[in-house]
Amino acid sequence: MQVMNSSNAREVEPAGGRIQRSNSLVEDVYEAIFAQLMSLKIAPGSRITVDSLVKELDVSHTPIREALGRLEGEGLVLKTHLIGYRAAPQITKRRFDELYELRLLLEPHGAAKAAALMDETKLAVLRESAGGMARREGKDERLRYSNFARQDAIFHDRIMEFANNDLVRETLAFQHTHFHIFRLMFHSRVTEEALDEHEAILAAFAASDPAAAEQAMRRHIEHSRDRLLLAFD
Ligand SMILES: [Zn+2]
Repeated sequence: MQVMNSSNAREVEPAGGRIQRSNSLVEDVYEAIFAQLMSLKIAPGSRITVDSLVKELDVSHTPIREALGRLEGEGLVLKTHLIGYRAAPQITKRRFDELYELRLLLEPHGAAKAAALMDETKLAVLRESAGGMARREGKDERLRYSNFARQDAIFHDRIMEFANNDLVRETLAFQHTHFHIFRLMFHSRVTEEALDEHEAILAAFAASDPAAAEQAMRRHIEHSRDRLLLAFD
């Protein structure tokens, strides 16, 4: 287990299992547990005991409970009265199909709208977000994977923000789609192929080409679905 201060993740060595800074303690604890959930170190459906996290991360109960509360809000952790916390079970194949159907209905259209409304400022925001996924520094593969999942969620959310329909954006955000689908499989292929597909989307945005953006987004989502379908074999 390696924990890094999220703001200094690129400069500092992993702290070897101990969280040493207090300024963003809850944030660091949250990131550490999030990475364990996303990379399946904490298996879907398994119990999460606060005491064992206290020992492992060398922090008090309070930040762990706060972090678990936040993860509960994101649908990754379930809390049962008198029993405690457990990791949310893996999504079912049916829910997986529903999520991708929803994405294919909403996101290609959103990408086309965003392309029509694109400008240099928005393009810079999207490039920065996509660039964050491509960077591969940091030794902890789990942390890198969970960071990718989060950045991908932000990238897609930004596109929907620029598409200018708050209801559609909220509908997608409410599902926490990216967290659930990335948790299906902990594999570098999931992340590496997506980078090229994001480049194609960005190229369509740079050209302010709605038809190309719609097509690139559709292709990306279809390929993402096909990559993760293997998790159900
Ligand atoms: Zn993506």
